[in-house]
Amino acid sequence: MKNIRVRFAPSPTGKLHIGNLRTAIFNWLFARHNNGKFLIRIEDTDLERSTKENTDGILDVLNWMEMTSDEPVVIQTSLIKQHHALVQKLLEEGKAYKCFCSQEHLEAQRKELEEKGEFFKYPGTCKNLSEKEKEANSNKPFVVRFKLPEQEVIEFNDLIKGTVSFDMNQFDDFIIVRSDGSLTYNFVVVHDDILMKISHIIRGEDHLINTPKQIFLYQAAGATPPYFAHLPMILGASGQKLSKRDATTAVLDYRKKGFLSGALLNYLVRLGWSHGDQEIFTKDELIKFFELEHVGKKASIFDTAKLEWVNSVYIKAMSAEDLLNNIIWFVDSEFESKTVSLSKQQLLDLLNLYKERVNTLSELANLIVLASVPPVVYDQESVKKWCLKSTLSVLQKLEEELLNISDFSKDNLQAMVKTLSKSLDLKMGNVAQPIRIALIGSDSGPGVFDMLDLFGKKISLQRLKLFYEFLEKYNFE
Ligand code: GLU
Repeated sequence: MKNIRVRFAPSPTGKLHIGNLRTAIFNWLFARHNNGKFLIRIEDTDLERSTKENTDGILDVLNWMEMTSDEPVVIQTSLIKQHHALVQKLLEEGKAYKCFCSQEHLEAQRKELEEKGEFFKYPGTCKNLSEKEKEANSNKPFVVRFKLPEQEVIEFNDLIKGTVSFDMNQFDDFIIVRSDGSLTYNFVVVHDDILMKISHIIRGEDHLINTPKQIFLYQAAGATPPYFAHLPMILGASGQKLSKRDATTAVLDYRKKGFLSGALLNYLVRLGWSHGDQEIFTKDELIKFFELEHVGKKASIFDTAKLEWVNSVYIKAMSAEDLLNNIIWFVDSEFESKTVSLSKQQLLDLLNLYKERVNTLSELANLIVLASVPPVVYDQESVKKWCLKSTLSVLQKLEEELLNISDFSKDNLQAMVKTLSKSLDLKMGNVAQPIRIALIGSDSGPGVFDMLDLFGKKISLQRLKLFYEFLEKYNFE
């Protein structure tokens, strides 16, 4: 396909949410797959609700996702003069008209009909006003309405949904300029898509109903409508539109929780698109495989547990160096002073051990900070489960053995603890678990011999001593 140009057009009236991001991803992949252009337009015509903070937040997320605009970002309000010029042109060509009906009057009509269970449509009162009537109304406030063509149905081809048709009865001459002079979404979106030479509009299914109006606007402006592709929705577990009750919806919150942008991309693209039953993709694979033909027609259910799994796969695949650079974002400002007793290699080794056990970077960061310093508290359940009064003498024996052992390596340590537990007639767990509690404060964590090996003799003995002192004062029941 030639000259593929797509756009992502968020409104900065709130934070970017998961559904918007998936739309951006599909547009971006479609552009990359077809060597086209991915453009960003900020739709800020709703002046009351649009904020600079939201615009910055949206662009931050897109930067983080590495989905930046291939041309300068278009800010919709900067095109306002051109929008009004097109309104003027449509008025002059008789494709739009001024409507002087009072809003109160129309509202009253709407209410009356709705009470009877009927649907209100603007009756076209001002459609064919004579010049004289126009003149007589010229001091009144007005809106500008688009003159709908007279036909019974409107049909178009959607690249995902196939042929879509709407009964024209459900549309009326819709407003393109409000009485305060502001322009409506359907009008500006078409103007800007023409101006930006957009070839394909890929967006959420909630915009399907707007498409007929937009097609008429293209025709009125003398432009060929682009291809449309409407994506099925993302739903919450309840089967309703995804909301905060189902999952975190603001994308930035996923970043704060320690999700990787690559994992989020991988997870979201699979919500609606598939390539056989492959779940994990590199970015290059996604670009290579992504085609709209493989976008399903059914809505997808957002599944936080699956997203966590995808994230854990990405974390496992990262090098310790990369993880260290990434967790800096999640650790407190005292991270360096806390980890100072560990060498960089020890930190990297810790990351390699813990990366197997976490779903998010923030979990990983917490565990690293915890393991970097001697435990401040010992998990009560773990102590109760594994420690007896006799554990004190086990720890003493262990200290002697550890002091004397010259090869402080994982295998050797394991063999030593095995022999020790045998000689004391204890199960391996009753020796190994107290060591783990001494090292990291609880009985769950990476392999105990990996940890001993990693911390080395000095730190291990120091932590065993601290635990011994704690147990001395512990009230065994
Ligand atoms: N600003 C609209 C939205 O965020 C864009 C819709 C469209 O893509 O046409 O829903």
